[in-house]
This record gives sequence, C-alpha cells and structure tokens, in this order.
Amino acid sequence: MRRPFVAGNWKMNLNQAEAVKLVRELAEELKSNAVEVGVCPPFVYLTSVAVAIGDAEIRLGAQDVYFESNGAFTGEISCQMLQDVCCEYVILGHSERRHVIGETDQLIHRKLQAVINSGLKPILCVGETIEQRDAGRTEKVVQEQLAGGLGDLSAAQLGNLVIAYEPVWAIGTGRNATPDQAQDVHRFIRGWLTQKFGPQFAQSVRIQYGGSVKPSNAGELMAQTDIDGALVGGASLKAADFLGIIRATAQAKGL
Ligand code: PEP
Repeated sequence: MRRPFVAGNWKMNLNQAEAVKLVRELAEELKSNAVEVGVCPPFVYLTSVAVAIGDAEIRLGAQDVYFESNGAFTGEISCQMLQDVCCEYVILGHSERRHVIGETDQLIHRKLQAVINSGLKPILCVGETIEQRDAGRTEKVVQEQLAGGLGDLSAAQLGNLVIAYEPVWAIGTGRNATPDQAQDVHRFIRGWLTQKFGPQFAQSVRIQYGGSVKPSNAGELMAQTDIDGALVGGASLKAADFLGIIRATAQAKGL
C-alpha cells in the first residue's frame, strides 16, 4: 500500500515567530504517524523550522529550487543549499509558479532533473485552469505537464517521485474538486504512468490532491482509490486544520 503523504505549502505567509509556533504545535502531535507529513515553509524560515521540528516525524520541504548547484544566479537557491538545511522534498511546477511567475515545462524539467540528481524528492504539481477544463482539455493539459516535466527520466530515476494534481480553479478559491472529479484525473494520471513506465512503478507513485482541502472535505477526497494524500495551502497555516486533514486522511485510508 502507498503511504499517504500530506504536505503543507505555506507559500509566502507567516513571519519567523509564527512559522516556529506553527511547527511546534504540529510537532507536539506528530511524533510517529501512519500518514507521512511534511511542511514547506518559505526559504528564509527553513532552518528555524528544521530546528523546531526536533525529533517529530515531520518532513521538511521547499517550495521551489533552481537547477544550477552554485554560481552567479542572483536570488536563486540550489538543491545542495536545501540539503544543507535538512530539506527532503521540493515542490516543483506549482500553479502559482507556472501562472504568476511564468515557469515553463522545460524549466520545470531542468529543476526536476537537478532535484533527482541531488537525491532530494520532487513533488511535481500539475493541473488545468477552469478555461481548459471547460474546453474539455483537462487530460491533455495534465498529460503535457507530466510529459514535459518528467521528460525522458527513467522509472529507476523517478523512484521518489510524488505528483500533486492541483486544478488551478480549486487553489485558494474555497472551491474544491468533487471526489469524483479528482479521482477521474488521478486515475488518468496513474494510467498515463502505467503506459509510460509500467504498472509496478505506476502503482508505487503517490498522487496528492491539492485545491481547497479542509478537514471537512478531506475524508471523502482521501477515500478515493487513486488519491494518496494532499498538498494543502491555506488550511496548512493553522495547526488544528492541518492536523484535522492528517487525521481525516488516516481514517479514510483505514490507518
Ligand atoms: C496549494 O497551494 O498547493 C493549495 C492547494 O492551496 P489551497 O489549499 O489554499 O487551495
């Protein structure tokens, strides 16, 4: 069975004191968990959050990375720097980076390659806009993002891959995909992975759902066969809400 993975994407929120307080509240409750749990703070708080995690079972992730390892790349952060501050995961291709910052599949692929080569674990985000969904292009868009992001990397290289399906219209809008809508796309993603890499690999990859996940809707989303956890934005900023999602996930998966 795939171990469910719930990760919090804090985006550009919280100050240092708030970040430490939040992770301490989580650490109190998360000493050993059936569900894998991670937090992705802003770069500047990674070290403080790593220290505050202590011996709790909470993984540390970054929200982005650059593909070069060092040099004249003003403002960028490398995989090696993230590893130096105890990061294990990196979110790649989040819709805000695609649609606000303008990242392309080509750039995301270079970052993914660097992440894999460094030993960090990628969380590759894919998802359609509302216009693309209404035009019946959801599967085509998701397939292009998967193919573009993964490129010609092999199943052996992608052993730690996590995918997050995040419909853009559901992110930060309070409007989540229905469990059926989400499951349909998750099934499609697993089918695509099966065709490209074979069933053994496809069955091992965790596919998170992201988009307005809350304690009140997490249970029915996580009960879907191909949904293996959540990437959570807004609701990961409050310990009680994030813990509620983790508990609902454990319950939905019978853990
Ligand atoms: C996200 O940013 O990945 C996300 C899913 O945000 P929210 O939960 O706020 O919709």
